[in-house]
Amino acid sequence: MSIDSYRSALVQQISLNVLLIFGLLLVQPDATFAQSGANDQDDGIFRVGPFEHHSVPGGIAIVPTGLSNEAVAPTLRWNSRRLAALYANNQWYALVGIPLSTEAGVQTVVVSAGDKTVEITFAVDEAHYEEQRITISDERKVNPAPLDMERINKESVRLKAVKAIHSSNLLSDHFIWPVTGPISSTFGLQRFFNDQPRRPHGGIDIAMPTGTPIIAPADGVIIDTGNYFFNGNSVFIDHGLGVQTFYAHMDSIAVSNGDTVGQGDVIGTVGETGRVTGAHLHWSLGLNGTWVDPTLVLVDD
Ligand SMILES: [Zn+2]
Repeated sequence: MSIDSYRSALVQQISLNVLLIFGLLLVQPDATFAQSGANDQDDGIFRVGPFEHHSVPGGIAIVPTGLSNEAVAPTLRWNSRRLAALYANNQWYALVGIPLSTEAGVQTVVVSAGDKTVEITFAVDEAHYEEQRITISDERKVNPAPLDMERINKESVRLKAVKAIHSSNLLSDHFIWPVTGPISSTFGLQRFFNDQPRRPHGGIDIAMPTGTPIIAPADGVIIDTGNYFFNGNSVFIDHGLGVQTFYAHMDSIAVSNGDTVGQGDVIGTVGETGRVTGAHLHWSLGLNGTWVDPTLVLVDD
């Protein structure tokens, strides 16, 4: 979407929905994108910090709130999700990670600042993701045994708690690839394991040999490490504000819970643990508890 059409679609809404109510809070609707600020590209891509606006299922919507008082961060909610608030270009933006299961259409963010609450709408566009059919030789990894299900259910409770972590500061505004190599599966593929439909692919697979170092793509804090039934040896990094990255199928893990990591630090190595057909890194980007396309935080050079 071009910046101009983005403006007309969203700035008008702000004018209607927010101006009257937040009129005393220094709203500057005409200055919304007038200053290049965090967005210094002229290729039509709208970016705030490292995040690229691509409002589709599995994408990120960057929704301007019109609130310009940097000292008062708004509280932002979408359905039951808490959203990150980012300050750039002289105003606060809502950063919305959109689940792959979301239907295209109009969505509403609830914005609270001080004792005022307003609703701002944004549009989610259609996306099309290809099908992918994978043959797994270990049938138990496709149709787990009852004992496996007990383990999987416990793990999903733990994963849900990890994904709900929302710390206060964004620790990094620049991301790089954790491993470079051939992409064997892109984000969002509609997957069939041994011809049975399963959840869509919530990350990117990078095919590299076992033992290849994996680096932290940005500064962060390790919030979970462990061995999971499907994901194998895994690491979660919290980058702040509900922004997380996740690494699966690792051979070795070089970090522990609570460790602080800097961009470029080795967190472990590529492997083939869990449900895999060969050695690769599965890399996911989490936003407000959902998986979105990790390429939306990578700037192409
Ligand atoms: Zn994967």
